Amino acid sequence: MTRVRFAPSPTGYLHVGGLRTALYNYLLARKTKGTFLLRIEDTDQNRLVADATENILDALSWAGVSPDEGAGKGGPHGPYIQSERLETYRNHAAELVEKGHAYPCFCTPAELAARREEQTRQGLSSMYDRRCRALSRDQARGRIEAGETHVIRMKIPDERTLVVDDLVRGPVEFSSAVVDDQVLVKSDGFPTYHLAAVVDDHLMEISHVIRGEEWLTSTPKHLLLYEYFGWEPPRFAHLPLIFNRQKKKLSKRDGDVAVEAYREKGYFPEALVNFLALIGWSPGDDREFFTLPELVEAFSIERVNKSSGVFDLDKLNYIQRHYVKTLPTETLVQRALPCFESPPEPAYLGQIIDLMRERVTFMHEVPALGYFYQDPEQYDEKVLKKRWKESSSELMTAFARRLEALSAWTVESTEACLRALAEERELNPAELIHPTRLAISGVGAGAGLFETMEVLGQPACVRRLRAAADRIQLPVA
Ligand code: GLU
Repeated sequence: MTRVRFAPSPTGYLHVGGLRTALYNYLLARKTKGTFLLRIEDTDQNRLVADATENILDALSWAGVSPDEGAGKGGPHGPYIQSERLETYRNHAAELVEKGHAYPCFCTPAELAARREEQTRQGLSSMYDRRCRALSRDQARGRIEAGETHVIRMKIPDERTLVVDDLVRGPVEFSSAVVDDQVLVKSDGFPTYHLAAVVDDHLMEISHVIRGEEWLTSTPKHLLLYEYFGWEPPRFAHLPLIFNRQKKKLSKRDGDVAVEAYREKGYFPEALVNFLALIGWSPGDDREFFTLPELVEAFSIERVNKSSGVFDLDKLNYIQRHYVKTLPTETLVQRALPCFESPPEPAYLGQIIDLMRERVTFMHEVPALGYFYQDPEQYDEKVLKKRWKESSSELMTAFARRLEALSAWTVESTEACLRALAEERELNPAELIHPTRLAISGVGAGAGLFETMEVLGQPACVRRLRAAADRIQLPVA
């Protein structure tokens, strides 16, 4: 039974890299009919965890990758918030001390800093010198009873090759000689990430740990902890880092890293999920568009890349435009409606969207297409100068009269009407098309003129042509 987890620290927002990690976990769970769990790792900070959990759940649910079990959801392995599990960690730390795999360390931060400085001065790598390992159990107990501040450290063996058999990278070897005696319990009694994550992954019966590559160097310590506890370790898969276009780790300085920011900008969850899926995973063919169910179908850990991926905003915009072009009209209407202060009729909005979907990237651009909702009051000056001729007012009046008489209002009927008038007057149709567009929209560009007129409807087009003929006085200087 596959059980995977997303284990964010509550920073107040969900990082896009975090969403990718959550997504890959979700995909594996769905693919294998397993369980996707959310655990909040809050042993490091005293934040408002309730809100943070809410934010994370909200962002995950927006993206369509809600957990099956865990924080905010419940389940048989709770609590799923680490600050509510301190007793468990304390007991497990005590077990390791008891077994001789961990020891209390009384070195103060000042002492440690001084020793590190000395090591650096001598050109050595700064590692804990393990001096508290030498204390006898009685000595240690005496100092603890006397109330001396201490941490618990794990014993790292001197010379051992620790192998992480990573599902993405294959076997990765680490020499224990470069691994520090990791602190497992801090002086405030809180566990460090390492102890808490290992204990929880075991107790929550996690089968696959899928997380960012930045945790790979911690994994040898975790494997030792599994060994010390006598537990079977899960499988590990470390996901490639996400870089900016300068090939540096994506950070706040590159702009938005919060999922919320993309949501607010109007990116669709389909687009962000599709985009993130492809940073670090490839389907093995040249397909670039995947819905969530298609991702579930196509995903495999074997196809996760070893090398880092790039967060390329142009690509995200490209994918976003794909979804604007292809999602059902009703879906887009539902998403565009909240962007309006006073929304038009949904049926009319649907027509506008179908006409303009090739030309917009975000739904909030739809209310900005002003001429669909109001007769133009001004006309783009540049277009006016270029396109409105002395004869235009008279032509528009004549065209309006003919349009008014049409019994069918279609793309074909209005086009035929315009061409007939052009022919009678021995004009190039463009001499009618350009001023007509300006008169009905106030601007010089848009979707096809006759398609636009069809959506705007007969009364509006006739009225607008007459208003422009009246209003626009030539010569325009
Ligand atoms: N709490 C860690 C983080 O914030 C989780 C690392 C892991 O998945 O083990 O990324």
